[in-house]
Amino acid sequence: MMQTPLTMTQMMERAEKYFPKKQVVSRTASGIQRFTYKQIAERTRRLADSLSKLGVTKGDRVGTLAWNHHRHLEAYFAIPCMGAVLHTVNIRLSPQHISYIINHAEDKVLLVDPDILPLLESCAAELKTVKAFIIMTDDKELPETILSPVYHYEKLLAEANPDYHYPEDLDENDPAGMCYTSATTGNPKGVVYSHRGIVLHSMALGLADSAAISEKDVALPVVPMFHANAWGMPFSAVWFGTSLVLPGPYFTPKLLAELIEQEKVTVTAGVPTIWLGLLKELDEGSYDLSSLRGVLCGGSAAPKGMIKAFEQRHNIPFMHAYGMTETSPLVVISTLKSYQEELDYEERLELRAKQGTLVPGLEIKILGKDGEVAWDGKEMGELCIKGPWIASEYYKDERTEEAFRDGWLHTGDVVTIDEEGFVKIVDRTKDLIKSGGEWISSVDLENALMAHDSVFEAAVVAVPHEQWQERPFACVVLKEAYKGKTTKEELLEFLTPQFAKWWIPDDILFLDEIPKTSVGKFLKMTLRDQVQKEALRKG
Ligand code: ADP
Repeated sequence: MMQTPLTMTQMMERAEKYFPKKQVVSRTASGIQRFTYKQIAERTRRLADSLSKLGVTKGDRVGTLAWNHHRHLEAYFAIPCMGAVLHTVNIRLSPQHISYIINHAEDKVLLVDPDILPLLESCAAELKTVKAFIIMTDDKELPETILSPVYHYEKLLAEANPDYHYPEDLDENDPAGMCYTSATTGNPKGVVYSHRGIVLHSMALGLADSAAISEKDVALPVVPMFHANAWGMPFSAVWFGTSLVLPGPYFTPKLLAELIEQEKVTVTAGVPTIWLGLLKELDEGSYDLSSLRGVLCGGSAAPKGMIKAFEQRHNIPFMHAYGMTETSPLVVISTLKSYQEELDYEERLELRAKQGTLVPGLEIKILGKDGEVAWDGKEMGELCIKGPWIASEYYKDERTEEAFRDGWLHTGDVVTIDEEGFVKIVDRTKDLIKSGGEWISSVDLENALMAHDSVFEAAVVAVPHEQWQERPFACVVLKEAYKGKTTKEELLEFLTPQFAKWWIPDDILFLDEIPKTSVGKFLKMTLRDQVQKEALRKG
């Protein structure tokens, strides 16, 4: 067979050639803008030309600090296609972590949204490698800033060559992108994606038994473009000629519901927190979201109660999936086998609330105390993964040795696998609760609590215990209508028939909000501190 390189250049060129009329709908600070792929492809060439005029050359890192919009999409392709490396900076990290990762990646140029400027200015003095800042503004003039030198994105594009030719000598193993994990402890860890990895992962998202992204879809990545490349959705969408809807900055559940309705979105992706917010909006408002064929949900466990509510109350099907920044991210996805479709709804739901079966192209093994665990849905072990879109190391980081061993990525996620190969994430190792020498899954307790009618969100954490070592403690946010009405006792009673006695949380703390990480997951470290203080206070 021919050895043709799997590079990202072919993706944007395919959209340009075969899907010039298809649309990208982009919400920016000044409202909705519409572009065709013909326009996006030309603007992408212009951006690559501008960056090369600013001195960006092969292998240089170019950072983005931006929301999901068309200019970010142009950067997604211009940077790798010109041979440089797209570094998507998580704008919800602390200024210390932001300057750490920009310095660590040695970004040469930064593309920045105007509303992120104050954040970037607050760490400007720390930045050691950045030679130019490009502001992605809708305004005609640049905003005032202490950063220097600064350039106006649209002015650069206006002066650039629309026929810029991407280099033809890219190797498929060249770095194309990088992303840092959000790190709840220590500094964020960098992951470098190759062209080959991105191309193969993008293809996997198009498989019929995976997310099945196709030309006929209208895709709305709600997951930020700085969180594991918006789970690869923008790459696949461009390659397949899928219409894209990019929701821009500071969207609300209402705005998302309106965008889905107006643009007839068929497939969308995001973390459970986003969907819990949308569910509340749908329950209260009136929208026609019948265009949706699937909601891709991952990043943390999708509560069974939430999946059921979407499907039964609003007729919106869910696709539960699992992955990590280190895995591009798709690893397993919960699509049923043909003969499982015949099960009744509750049985199907039980299976689909698991994270699913392995996507073709990857390998997994689950390591327990005595080697690989049995496929019985009970024995727990650490999920280990290998494959062409799985990172082989952390970028210039000695923590590589902990996670990458014997050719496998050791994920730190504790899972079970059943007879049919469905993987269920039990917990992150550090979040498992060890009580009297046995493990309790915080995820299972949270899911059960969130299935109660009165509960909006629930997180369960460990508190140290003299006799049992650790005990579970639940934090619950009640829905507005139930505040002050639902009691601890009622919730504990609700859990009692569902779990062994020793699994039942020792106490429940009602909160107004569960603290979240920069990518919208429950921030268990902060919760643990809060809960331990509460436990001490009560003695
Ligand atoms: P971060 O590490 O910054 O939170 P990632 O998105 O890379 O960002 O996190 C990956 C982790 O998220 C996985 O290791 C796993 O613990 C968790 N995760 C991802 N998807 C799921 C899911 N569907 N169910 C439960 N946990 C999940």
